[in-house]
Amino acid sequence: MLSRNVPRGDLVARIGGDEFVILARRAVPTAEISELCERIIVEMNKPIDFEGFSCRCGISIGIAQASGIAPDARRILVNADIALYQAKEKGRNCYEFFTPDLQANIVSKKRMADEILTGLERDEFTVWYQPQFETATMQLSGAEALVRWNHPDKGVIASNHFIKVAEELNVMARMDQMVLEKALRDQMRWTALGVKVPRISVNVSSKRLHDATLVEQLHGLAIDPGAICFELVESIFLDESDDVVTENIDKIKALGIDIEIDDFGTGHTSILSLLRLKPKRLKIDRQLHADRHAFRNRPVRSIIEIARSLGVETVAEGVESLDHADLLRHLGCDYLQGYAFAKPLPFDEFSRFTKGFPQRKAS
Ligand code: C2E
Ligand code: MG
Ligand code: MG
Repeated sequence: MLSRNVPRGDLVARIGGDEFVILARRAVPTAEISELCERIIVEMNKPIDFEGFSCRCGISIGIAQASGIAPDARRILVNADIALYQAKEKGRNCYEFFTPDLQANIVSKKRMADEILTGLERDEFTVWYQPQFETATMQLSGAEALVRWNHPDKGVIASNHFIKVAEELNVMARMDQMVLEKALRDQMRWTALGVKVPRISVNVSSKRLHDATLVEQLHGLAIDPGAICFELVESIFLDESDDVVTENIDKIKALGIDIEIDDFGTGHTSILSLLRLKPKRLKIDRQLHADRHAFRNRPVRSIIEIARSLGVETVAEGVESLDHADLLRHLGCDYLQGYAFAKPLPFDEFSRFTKGFPQRKAS
């Protein structure tokens, strides 16, 4: 198929199991290369008849260009590989050209991956807490635990700068367990200090929810009912065919851990899956309520009404102003979290912060 599509004079070779190289020894305009890639992708996507079965293949293409009298063939292949890696990141059936920026990105990602592994060994990851408040009384109702990296050179790094690389490295489940253990320890330290933090929500990654040994890991921890919530993003429980996930969620609930749906409104949760999952709370994503325009608030009002009719509480996350908090109170949202009240804080600062807020009497 490849030989049929490349211009005459270009070389086609197989260099590995399912890896092929096309070598054009002449100067080819970029537009012509793009056209060739698109043609190959279309051709490769046509079904192939194999012993009566119709099979479909996908293809990803990386492109590297070089000029000069004696280009370094090995370098060109490495660059094409880097571009291929990027093409695969974009999804199936894509092509990508090598650029020096791409290389710099990959090098810095690799460095970060190495540093994350060392950081885990050296216990450089820590937990910060963002307070949450009961809308009606403005009493402290809990906190969300957010992982932070105490980087030896760069200082404190927020999660959005390293989580993707940690996920690719397959260490997110390990990090989540560490966050939970630290949160439980901090909860005890607060109790000892006379600070009441009724509940802590921890984020749970997809890998962790799919882990068949998750419940076993949780059994070893002393968790009071209602004291810990697991925040799950919509996409990770939507795959209802996964028995491990369904079983894990049921057992997590049986351990007295509440389930919250994080970033609600950004995914595709149906009312049916909400009924099936029966979460304790929905966390309404910032994007849904950031715009104060009346029309835009209608979906938020509806979400709150639907949640209430199902016996599910609501938390608005990313509340950035007190005006905004008033509006959400008016719409009937149960809890508020956001920069309007506090940014995520390290343990000591959180302890100081809570002193300024009314505490719910220990029951
Ligand atoms: P998330 O769970 O939705 O967390 C809320 C994020 O929004 C946090 O960013 C928080 O700092 C930020 N935020 C809070 N209030 C405001 C606000 O008023 N305005 C704006 N613009 N942003 C606000 P962060 O800490 O960088 O976390 C980003 C995401 O990383 C989290 O989103 C969560 O999905 C993930 N993450 C954080 N920690 C963990 C963890 O320990 N485990 C797992 N699996 N994921 C985590
Ligand atoms: Mg969260
Ligand atoms: Mg969120």
